[in-house]
Amino acid sequence: MSKLYFIVGSQDLYGEECLKTVADDARQMAEFFDVKLKGNVHVELLPTVENSEICIANCRKANNDDDCVGVITWMHTFSPAKMWIKGLSQLRKPLLHLHTQFNEKLPYDSIDMDFMNLNQAAHGDREYGFILARMNIPHEVVAGYYKHDDVVKKVAAFADVARAIAYSNQLKVATFGNNMREVAVTDGDRVETQIRYGWETNYYALGDLVAYINAVTDAEIDGMMALYREKYTMNTDNIEAVREQAKYEAALEKFISDKGVGAFTDTFQDLHGMKQLPGIAIQDLMGKGIGFGPEGDYKISALSAVLMEMSKGREGATGFIEDYTYDLTAGSELELASHMLEVPVAFAANKPAIEVHPLGIGGKDDPARLVFDGVTGDGIQVTLVDMGDRFRIICADIELVKQPAPMPKLPVARIMYRHKPDFAIGTAAWCYAGGAHHSVVSTALTRSDIAMFARLTKTELITIGDDTTEADLQKFFMK
Ligand code: MN
Repeated sequence: MSKLYFIVGSQDLYGEECLKTVADDARQMAEFFDVKLKGNVHVELLPTVENSEICIANCRKANNDDDCVGVITWMHTFSPAKMWIKGLSQLRKPLLHLHTQFNEKLPYDSIDMDFMNLNQAAHGDREYGFILARMNIPHEVVAGYYKHDDVVKKVAAFADVARAIAYSNQLKVATFGNNMREVAVTDGDRVETQIRYGWETNYYALGDLVAYINAVTDAEIDGMMALYREKYTMNTDNIEAVREQAKYEAALEKFISDKGVGAFTDTFQDLHGMKQLPGIAIQDLMGKGIGFGPEGDYKISALSAVLMEMSKGREGATGFIEDYTYDLTAGSELELASHMLEVPVAFAANKPAIEVHPLGIGGKDDPARLVFDGVTGDGIQVTLVDMGDRFRIICADIELVKQPAPMPKLPVARIMYRHKPDFAIGTAAWCYAGGAHHSVVSTALTRSDIAMFARLTKTELITIGDDTTEADLQKFFMK
């Protein structure tokens, strides 16, 4: 399991007794977080930093441990920050500065100089905060008594984001075919996304996948069909069309496993050797945590995989979506978001139905897809665009709602949502910010998770929500 290292700062000025107490307190705090974050990450204590050498050794240990996704630091006493420079300059893992104390309350009756020298985070954490700022090291600060629920919650969120960054750093993305012809926003600098986010994005000929498809056996298709029948309602007589999709999923799973891929793209403009555009095959795969981007959108494919990883263990749904069409009734504007076929099954509010309908684009056989209505609740919509000299993450707060009326003739899965603070400002802000029509929607993650991810990956962030005003719109334009 992933782990966070807990590194506590002190110095040898206060004597052996003090350092022993620091180590004991640190152990108790590490154990506390280890229990609180169970099922997510382990928390392990490293030796107290008393000098530069220990700090360097701790940071190297964190770097070299593949299971370590991040580091928590806290200054129990004063810890002169020049001792931290060489270690921190080498640290390559996400960093949390926990600004806390071992004691919650001041012992007014008994407090003396010994107590004050032992418990001086207010002093030591400011010295430490300075050096992080001075060295321009991306980090998070969480302030408060460490046992308080809000502090534990923020540390847990850091663990999720750190785990997602570790996942991101090893993510391989396969693109079958290239970007949809002429489309701008789905393109991007693949060298830069590998440097910044770790995504190894590589092209494969569709023929590479077709070879896998042609090698799938009837028994493997039967196995996949049995799973489909278990999870979904078969709402078609065209079983052959569904079997074709089952074959694609079996092939994709093998390809993904052989190449160590965690996310992929396809494009309806390149389906040579395939009878249908993959529908259920991809919807079901996204349900297994595999990232996907249509029309060659490698950025949203990778981002969806990373955010699915971030949301692991939380309630709610996370997945790729496309902005499609609006209901512009004054005062109750809504958006209908969907795709040609590939809407993540995570968004299903009801048991998905397998249906076969014509696609009307791409000139292939009628593809089988899962159709369902979407989940409801507070959520976020996140996208990543390439601004030429930098990447930009745009995160909008949204409210996913029940569709106001049935849509019996719409043959694709869909979700609906309300923009914040309202339609006019929320969607104009998205347009000003250059937000894509592909995004990741999540009811499991919050704006603060995305903001942390942006800070730790040094990515520009624009947020849209109830705090966005008319006056903010030009701000996006001016950047
Ligand atoms: Mn699309």
